[in-house]
Amino acid sequence: MASNAPRTPSSNGSLDSAVPPGPLPDKWTDYKAKAKLINPANKRKYSVIVVGSGLAGGAAAATLSELGYQVKCFCYQDSPRRAHSIAAQGGINGAKNYQNDGDSVWRLFYDTIKGGDFRSREANVHLLAEISLQIIDQCAAQGVPFAREYGGALANRSFGGAQVSRTFYARGQTGQQLLLGCYQALEKEIAKGGVKMHPRT
Ligand SMILES: Cc1cc2nc3c(=O)[nH]c(=O)nc-3n(C[C@H](O)[C@H](O)[C@H](O)COP(=O)(O)OP(=O)(O)OC[C@H]3O[C@@H](n4cnc5c(N)ncnc54)[C@H](O)[C@@H]3O)c2cc1C
Repeated sequence: MASNAPRTPSSNGSLDSAVPPGPLPDKWTDYKAKAKLINPANKRKYSVIVVGSGLAGGAAAATLSELGYQVKCFCYQDSPRRAHSIAAQGGINGAKNYQNDGDSVWRLFYDTIKGGDFRSREANVHLLAEISLQIIDQCAAQGVPFAREYGGALANRSFGGAQVSRTFYARGQTGQQLLLGCYQALEKEIAKGGVKMHPRT
């Protein structure tokens, strides 16, 4: 292989993104609807390795453990709280359309694709836009202190040039607060014995 050839994860030289087939908005929805479920009694027989414990890895480890899997979570730093996710200060997007300003899953999908200079995997970004609705609820349930309107409803602002207000935020500390929420969920599962942490590893 020439030194400037693209690196690929597979041995045969092809780059397989493993995106399911079908029309773009339905790819992951169809896949999730048809994927085989694992019997709850059998989940504890499976060990899952999670590498990294930022917002993505930490949430995956905590959630998989809550489902009953045995999770081994590897963290390069001394604590999951040191992950780069702590730097995300502006807020987290959710296409809830609380403001009734015309937002939708499709608009969040399109803005995210555009914001990524059209280089992201479209099906995966669509999945992100779909589950953005639940992620806000999950974070609020974990205790993330999102900003609220005087009446108690979660507040939104327009962020990153978006023409709709869909960004949920916690002052200028959203990443830190999200990571603390995620870390607490992870700690609960570590204490329960479902997650074995491997820090500095
Ligand atoms: C300055 C800044 C501001 C941002 N602002 C926003 C914002 O306002 N809103 C927003 O939505 N997004 C924002 N982002 C983007 C957002 O922070 C990231 O997309 C997101 O946090 C990535 O989360 P992650 O869990 O995938 O990665 P990370 O938080 O980087 O976590 C990955 C973890 O894996 C560890 N790791 C990596 N390799 C290994 C290995 N081999 N073994 C063990 N551990 C390993 C790393 O050390 C790290 O702890 C911002 C990003 C930056 C840098």
